Amino acid sequence: HGGHAVPQADRGRHPAFDVHAVRRDFPILQERINGKQLVWLDNAATTHKPRQVIERIAYFYEHENSNIHRAAHELAARATDAYEHAREVARRFINAPDVHEIIFVRGTTEAINLIAKAWGGQHVQEGDEIIVSNLEHHANIVPWQQLAQAKGAKLRVIPVDDQGQVLLDEYRKLINDRTKVVSVAHVSNVLGTVVPVKEIVDIAKCHGITTVIDGAQSIAHTPVDVQDIGADFFVFSGHKIFGPTGIGVLWGKRDVLENMPPWQGGGNMIADVTFEKTVFQPLPNTFEAGTGNIADAVGLGAALEYVERLGIHNISHYEHALVDYGMAQLAAIAGVRLIGTVPGKASVLSFVLDGYSTDEVGQILNAEGIAVRTGHHCAQPILRRFGVETAVRPSLAFYNTFDEIDQLVQIIQRLAGQRR
Ligand code: PLP
Repeated sequence: HGGHAVPQADRGRHPAFDVHAVRRDFPILQERINGKQLVWLDNAATTHKPRQVIERIAYFYEHENSNIHRAAHELAARATDAYEHAREVARRFINAPDVHEIIFVRGTTEAINLIAKAWGGQHVQEGDEIIVSNLEHHANIVPWQQLAQAKGAKLRVIPVDDQGQVLLDEYRKLINDRTKVVSVAHVSNVLGTVVPVKEIVDIAKCHGITTVIDGAQSIAHTPVDVQDIGADFFVFSGHKIFGPTGIGVLWGKRDVLENMPPWQGGGNMIADVTFEKTVFQPLPNTFEAGTGNIADAVGLGAALEYVERLGIHNISHYEHALVDYGMAQLAAIAGVRLIGTVPGKASVLSFVLDGYSTDEVGQILNAEGIAVRTGHHCAQPILRRFGVETAVRPSLAFYNTFDEIDQLVQIIQRLAGQRR
């Protein structure tokens, strides 16, 4: 799909992927907004749920609902089986070697906080250094900043180039013998940049540095193989991959997790408690204190199985065609400035339009039924790197169509034409 010329027959069709068929799985896509059919281009904020997920959660509450692990009754067994099945699906989805390495958490934010508090609390000392990149979401900045402040450590930042790619040579220069951890996004939620995480991890490993990958924006768009990436931790949120909110995954290498102190204490994570001493459960329960989000973990399992059936390679291929098409269309509009232009980028089309605030653009699109995010996208440093405070951010998923891109582009063209 070079530029504008997407043949009519290809629009919305892909040899292994029928977008019109998959759209029927997502009831909310039939919703009407201001009299128009919803065009959901806010997938980087959250994704919609196929009925397979909605029905799986309903089934859980209708037939399986119980607390897990600690009752003799039938429903406890069903709930435990469903929850542990979801854990196995998550393991398979990211190709983790061991199901005990899959920790259910609230989402990416909680996962990174857990790592910063539990691992960071143990390993980061005064004078040590923590590396992140300029394109991080606040969730991968603030917990490290808090850790740095608490410990008297230093946060170092890998710069990005004008297209929005991290500069590996600058990264190499930041490393020294005080560097304890490197934590970077796999895909930027503002620029769509696919970060070369494998190279970043390889370089860190040569220096014995621990690595964390924020997979919030990669998990639904590109194949993820944690063994191939080789990092110590990989984390993601369920709601960004067609699963429920309030559930996500922290994966960590077994030996790293086993040497890490628990974060929260309470029920479920203990083997034996006296007032003198607590013996903790082995993985994964060590890090799952209290009653977790059981139903939504089951829903996340269903979402991952849904994506497996579509095939992440098919999804990635289709979305790249959509992104390239959208980028070419937007780039051709005078007055549009695209933010984030790294070739091969994933699923995000941030821009600003001369003569309009980003908020105005968002309102006008909403009036036409088109949902995009405007604002700072919880990643202020990278927008400031590009000299703006806010941007308009259409973001795609596999259920979006070329026609929807056309609808967006036509409105932006009209606005650009009427520029004040
Ligand atoms: N990291 C990135 C790159 C994100 O895009 C997001 C969500 O927008 C997060 C972290 C935080 O995810 P959550 O709010 O689900 O914890």
